[in-house]
Amino acid sequence: KESTSYFMLTNESVRGLLKERTKFSHKGTYGRALIMAGSYGKMGAAVLCAKAALRAGVGLLTMNIPACGYDIMQSTVPEAMVLPDEGDHYLTSYGDVAQYDALGIGPGLGKEQETVYSLMQAIQVFGRPLVIDADGLNIISEHREILEVLPPDTILTPHPKEFERLAGSWSNDFERLKKQVAFAKEHKVIVVLKGAHTSITFPTGEVYFNSSGNPGMASGGSGDVLTGMITSLLAQKYLPENAAKVGVYLHGVAGDLAAEVTGQTGMIASDLIDFIPDAYQNIR
Ligand code: AMP
Ligand code: MG
Repeated sequence: KESTSYFMLTNESVRGLLKERTKFSHKGTYGRALIMAGSYGKMGAAVLCAKAALRAGVGLLTMNIPACGYDIMQSTVPEAMVLPDEGDHYLTSYGDVAQYDALGIGPGLGKEQETVYSLMQAIQVFGRPLVIDADGLNIISEHREILEVLPPDTILTPHPKEFERLAGSWSNDFERLKKQVAFAKEHKVIVVLKGAHTSITFPTGEVYFNSSGNPGMASGGSGDVLTGMITSLLAQKYLPENAAKVGVYLHGVAGDLAAEVTGQTGMIASDLIDFIPDAYQNIR
C-alpha cells in the first residue's frame, strides 16, 4: 500500500518556485500559449482566461475561438492573437497545436460533437502535458476514452461538480480526497480540485492544500482566470507540478489582494486579473 504525503502551499514554499525574468530575454523566452475556449454566449470565459494568461506572464498568446468571438477578443484583449475557427458558434476544428509551448482547453467551450472531436485531436497531436478545465472536463466525463490518451502530468482543474462527473460522488470530504488521490494516480494526471481550500493531487500520491483565497472568489469566471494562469506558467516552462502549485497559490493571493480593495461581496473575476501583478510582487 502506497503512502500519501500532505503539504501546504505557502508564500515561502511558492516563492522558491518562481522564475525571474532575465535581462536578455525576449517574448519567445516566455513561451507561446494556445488556448481553445469560448462559444456563443460564453465568450466572456475566453476573454477572462486570455487576460489572466497575459498577466501571468506568457510571452505570446493565441486564442483559438469560434468566429463569433473574433471582434470580441480583438477589441477586449489587444495583446492576444486570435485564431478564429470556421464554426461561428463553437469550435469545430483545432489549430496547429504542435508549434505551441503550452495548451489550455475548456473555458466556455460547450460540448458540441465537433468540439469533442477537435478536443480529442488537439490533445493527442499536442502530446505533452496541458491544462483542461470546465467543458473540456465535462466532455471527458462523457467520453471516457479520452482519459486513456491524456499525456502524463496533464493538469485537470475541476470544481466539485465537475470532479463528481469525472470520478463519481462521495459522502464526505475524506472520501472525496481519497477519490482525488486515486484519480491522479490511476490516470497519471494532476488534479486541482477547486474550492475554499483547493487541493492538488499528483500521480506520486502527494497532496497539496492551498492557503490563499477567499469567498469573494465564489463567482462566475474565477476558474477561467486560474486556467489562463496555469497555461501561462506552462508556456513559461514551469514544470507541470510547479505550474499547478504556483498558479493556484498566486490566484488565491490575487483574490486576497483584490478583496482588500473591493471587499468580498462586490468582487468579480476581472478584479482577480487586475491583481495578478501585485500577487507576484507580494510573493517575492
Ligand atoms: P470555478 O467554479 O471554475 O469558477 O472556480 C472557482 C474558483 O474560485 C476556484 O479557483 C476556487 O478555488 C475559487 N473559490 C471558489 N469559492 C471559494 C471560496 N469560498 N474560498 C476560496 N476560493 C474559492
Ligand atoms: Mg469553471
